[in-house]
Amino acid sequence: MYSSGMLFVLAGPSGAGKTTLAHHLVAGNDGTDFSVSTTTRLPRGEEIHGKDYFFVDDNEFNLRIRNSYFLEWAHVHGNRYGTEGSWVRNQLALGKNVVLDIDVQGAVQIKESMPSAVLIFVLPASSRVLLNRLEHRNTDSGKTVEKRMEAAAGEVSFMGIFDYFVCNDELEKAKSEIEAIFLAEKMKLQTIGWPLQALDYHGNYMKGISYWKGKRVVVSSGPTREMIDEVRFISNRSSGLMGVSLTEAFLYAGAEVVLVSGPAFHMDPPGPVRLVKVGSASDMLDALEKETQNADLLVMAAAVADFTPSNSFTGKLKRTDGNLTIALESTPDITLSLSCSCPVLSFALEYGETSLERARNKMMKKDAYAIFLNRGDKPGTGMETACNSGTLLFAGDAEDIDIKHGSKKFVAFGIAAALGREMEASRNG
Ligand code: ADP
Ligand code: 5GP
Repeated sequence: MYSSGMLFVLAGPSGAGKTTLAHHLVAGNDGTDFSVSTTTRLPRGEEIHGKDYFFVDDNEFNLRIRNSYFLEWAHVHGNRYGTEGSWVRNQLALGKNVVLDIDVQGAVQIKESMPSAVLIFVLPASSRVLLNRLEHRNTDSGKTVEKRMEAAAGEVSFMGIFDYFVCNDELEKAKSEIEAIFLAEKMKLQTIGWPLQALDYHGNYMKGISYWKGKRVVVSSGPTREMIDEVRFISNRSSGLMGVSLTEAFLYAGAEVVLVSGPAFHMDPPGPVRLVKVGSASDMLDALEKETQNADLLVMAAAVADFTPSNSFTGKLKRTDGNLTIALESTPDITLSLSCSCPVLSFALEYGETSLERARNKMMKKDAYAIFLNRGDKPGTGMETACNSGTLLFAGDAEDIDIKHGSKKFVAFGIAAALGREMEASRNG
């Protein structure tokens, strides 16, 4: 099983020491690369195209924006700067770490599109020190230095979005703090996947998982949000943890994974996973229609709303003395509406004695390849829990597989492996 690369974003005012610290991280850690940004600014001094920046003109920058080339881009001090998205994702998917040295607006955009990125805010001990550093850097005119000092105050206002703060007063101290952050992030289970040292405790549990190497898997996750007006909505208790855990399991098995998630508490897949955020059931259907073309598997872990208000009001409905009646209509059945013919792993959250039978019927009705039944009436399983357990049922002849109680991540690896074993067996036989 492979480990995902990590994305480190160093941001903060110009002159804070981001470039110095970014190069320190890259130099000290094998498999860690610096992302070279694209800019419309003209080269300064000895700067080299492709090494310091990719220097392009306004037309080329516009074209790249239109082609969704950038993971983020922003206007900074009168010029535009951007980070190439596909390069970053490819590096992460290869297990390499990437370090970005970008402005605060760009970091805020990355938090939105790649929530697992590690955001580090760098600042000197005081604004006077910052001014001093900019003046002694000798790359900027007096007017530019003044502009950069003004911008610094605006950038500091966004610090609350970041994960870490490093005060770069003494460089050696700041370097060791950045190294400590790097090490802590590297030890995170989300970065490791499932440790090799833990595999042999469960015998054949993970057998079959390598089937997914090189496959394209789309996972839907979280609840959907059906809007009543622009503020209130109908939703459900799905936290998105099972969906994110499944993206991890398929990713660490070697698949290319896309996560299509409704607004969930957990929607922070590892960096190589492309995250597509959706709102309503109908948005989810549109996104899945697009993403499942050429997919090898669709995992329908999302708790899609069955009903949506017939009319959604603009603005915010005012309180009235009388009752408010909201008419609901059924949402489309996503699995049945999709044009893709890829196998589907469905999910059933069932209550009561006839759960197994209802899950099997649901699988048949949805023409799914398999269905994972988790019980809402068993303690420690189902929605809004950290753990789960359940039974994997197959539409074909394969026997049901019980997945034992454990963290949702453990359960997700078990599901991916069992599904891989069954797909492999049907391919061979
Ligand atoms: P940024 O990338 O944030 O604009 P740089 O890394 O280019 O900042 O650093 C700005 C200037 O400050 C450079 O001349 C750098 O050598 C210097 N510098 C960086 N860190 C320190 C520090 N802790 N103490 C003194 N000077 C520093
Ligand atoms: P400079 O022109 O001095 O090299 O950089 C000016 C500012 O642009 C710095 O604060 C730097 O961090 C920021 N910057 C450089 N590359 C990027 C990028 O790709 N995206 C964003 N948003 N900012 C960047």
